Amino acid sequence: MDLYEYQAKQLFAHYGVPTQLGEVATTPAEARAAAERFGCPVVVKAQVKIGGRGKAGGVRLAADPAAAYTVASEILGLDIRGHIVHRVLITPAEQIAEEYYVSFLVDRAERGLLCMASVSGGIDIEQVAAETPERLVRVPVDAISGLTDAQAAEICAAADFPVAVRPAVADVLLALWQVFTAGDALLVEVNPLVRTPDDRIVALDGKVTLDDNAFFRHPDYAQFEDPTATDPLEQAAAERDLNYVKLDGEVGVIGNGAGLVMSTLDVVAYAGERFGGVRPANFLDIGGGASAKVMADGLEIVLSDPDVTCVLVNVFGGITACDAVADGIVGALAMLADRGTPVTRPIVVRLDGNNAAAGRRILAEANLPTVELIETMDAAAARAAELAYHARPATSA
Ligand code: GDP
Ligand code: MN
Repeated sequence: MDLYEYQAKQLFAHYGVPTQLGEVATTPAEARAAAERFGCPVVVKAQVKIGGRGKAGGVRLAADPAAAYTVASEILGLDIRGHIVHRVLITPAEQIAEEYYVSFLVDRAERGLLCMASVSGGIDIEQVAAETPERLVRVPVDAISGLTDAQAAEICAAADFPVAVRPAVADVLLALWQVFTAGDALLVEVNPLVRTPDDRIVALDGKVTLDDNAFFRHPDYAQFEDPTATDPLEQAAAERDLNYVKLDGEVGVIGNGAGLVMSTLDVVAYAGERFGGVRPANFLDIGGGASAKVMADGLEIVLSDPDVTCVLVNVFGGITACDAVADGIVGALAMLADRGTPVTRPIVVRLDGNNAAAGRRILAEANLPTVELIETMDAAAARAAELAYHARPATSA
């Protein structure tokens, strides 16, 4: 899970990284009140989970509380590359003498942990890496021994930090290492880490990606979850323990096993090329158990996406055999009809693997008007794409 800047800074403060916590505002009046409390100038910063806010007009200075009101009203509601700003962070403005960059991350290619540091921060670090790679030092950090005082000092020297601030930057690196490891993060990045004219070192920005797999160790991380940022369908799916990801096409996809569902998405997109660019509407892996309840929940979620005009159920029977899956589909349709939401959109079903013949017989005998059985995955995907294509509203030529 990615954190907002204000959340990242809360974590920074907890582990002793010097930063300005500031205050979050959702209205211009709250922004003005915060500016009055802090004393001006302040910085008004869009809280969206995407970088480059400064360039997009999402980070601005305000000289007095009235300006904070105006600037906040301009930033709130702004669309920064698809991310709408619902909140701004107000912090006292720091004076900046120099801007640095530091980060810790999981380096998958090297199968290790990496510290990156540069005295050329503030700007796009990708640009520094591409144009002046010698200005971005990359130092592997051993996961077992961790970042030592000596290594933190070495990184500061290697990156050529000014001697006067090296001890302070080394302390920041050690504190960030705690955010990274004790906080179970996959990425911790500060850009810019600034040197003030009076030689303080302050994290002015913060980017943190937490490791979702470690959440059981951090019950307090529940506070970081943001229901407004999650897709409502994904939220509903998560509540039913379904592994659902919303995409932007028209063919709803339900399958068992992440690999099979992934390849089903590919096959649907491929088949869709012949049908006006029809694409899959979602990823939904119902996993091993395909009971009527799980299938009904899955169909309900997929069909509550108004873009879905046709559903493809692609199941390869394994431990859960195809006859059980077929019973699940029949039961699910009955269950949805009972709930008052009968399924009227077409469902293409492909069953293969363990007990496929029995499964197909169950579906054939159930004689469900909306269900169409197709034997192979390619043919089923093509049929689903075709149905979705014909369901498109007629457009005047
Ligand atoms: P980003 O563009 O999304 O990475 O947002 P940042 O938080 O990094 O802010 C962008 C830029 O705004 C920084 O590189 C700074 O130059 C500037 N900025 C942010 N906070 C302050 C501040 O407190 N004082 C001053 N003078 N500039 C700031
Ligand atoms: Mn930044």
